[in-house]
Amino acid sequence: MHAHLAIEHDFPLKSLNTFGIDARARRYLRVRGPEDLAAVIGDPALAALPRLLLGGGSNVLLTRDFDGLVLHMTGAGKALAGETDSHVLVRGAAGENWHGFVQYTLAQGLGGLENMSLIPGTLGAAPIQNIGAYGAEIKDVFHSLTVFDMASGELRTMDAAACRFGYRDSVFKRAEGQGLAIVDVTFALPRDWQPNLRYAELAQALSEAGVKQPTPQQVSDTVVALRRRKLPDPAVIGNAGSFFKNPLVTGAACARLLAQFPALVHHAQPDGSEKLAAGWLIDQCGWKGRKLGAAGVYPKQALVLVNNGGASGADVLALARAIQADVSARYGVLLEPEPVLV
Ligand SMILES: Cc1cc2nc3c(=O)[nH]c(=O)nc-3n(C[C@H](O)[C@H](O)[C@H](O)COP(=O)(O)OP(=O)(O)OC[C@H]3O[C@@H](n4cnc5c(N)ncnc54)[C@H](O)[C@@H]3O)c2cc1C
Repeated sequence: MHAHLAIEHDFPLKSLNTFGIDARARRYLRVRGPEDLAAVIGDPALAALPRLLLGGGSNVLLTRDFDGLVLHMTGAGKALAGETDSHVLVRGAAGENWHGFVQYTLAQGLGGLENMSLIPGTLGAAPIQNIGAYGAEIKDVFHSLTVFDMASGELRTMDAAACRFGYRDSVFKRAEGQGLAIVDVTFALPRDWQPNLRYAELAQALSEAGVKQPTPQQVSDTVVALRRRKLPDPAVIGNAGSFFKNPLVTGAACARLLAQFPALVHHAQPDGSEKLAAGWLIDQCGWKGRKLGAAGVYPKQALVLVNNGGASGADVLALARAIQADVSARYGVLLEPEPVLV
């Protein structure tokens, strides 16, 4: 075994996942960069273990102890990485805190990431589900990323097309993207920045504050204030943000549902499909604020499942399944979990 790899045994993961699930890993390694990943695959005993890449643990549900090697992506560093007439490139290592990275770009006078302020987790995990909030997604300002291929041991650059971003989706969530560890991410931020105020709640909060031409920092501060009001702080109550994706249905299916449920909350998509509000569907089924064992539905936001203290991953999963069954029985719509189930 590589002497310089500080592998830990039977490692507690409770403080490394925002649900606060008390699960353990058979082996654990703090990964500082690609050299550590190369050492892992160069060691036959380690290479043979099942692997779990972990960033901030804010989008995983640990349903049991992990009988393998947890690779905790902690590599740090961020810098300006080039410029063109229209854009400035900013790059950061996978282990950088996402919100810290957003604040760093704002401090450089660069806009583009402000609507996604305060999303928990790491920079390296942001592309996995193409994180987004308040009408923006990272794919809007994404430039490229570097992956370490755990099968070949090679470093490779991938552009947006190669990442195949979709709504809370990318190639990294599919079979072809397994075994790729993201080691750094680069954004192309526009010099000629315009605020993105498509999201009505954000536009309204700024106008109520009397801000007519907001700076990127003012947009960020407003997003932070809105999020603090609505979402539970994982340091206080365990959760992984939205537990279900907003389901996409065809226009025809949406029309059929509207005939039966005129208050149905839906948003037309550019391709003619309709996005339904998962939180509304769950609320209508009477789940908001309800508990099942130590797991529950957050009283202020039905889309967020919470650990009320001592819940196991199996408890949260049982609650999720019960909600899925009710929504499916009433609306014929399947809710898909957003966090990765481990
Ligand atoms: C209170 C709260 C609010 C949230 N709000 C939002 C929101 O508004 N919008 C949104 O999109 N998400 C939101 N989330 C979800 C979460 O913050 C994001 O998905 C975030 O990007 C996860 O980052 P992480 O580092 O915690 O990833 P983790 O939970 O550690 O990992 C998530 C997945 O990515 C993989 N992974 C992690 N790092 C790497 C890497 N370097 N290379 C390859 N694979 C990797 C893991 O194996 C796992 O499959 C919220 C979560 C919480 C708790």
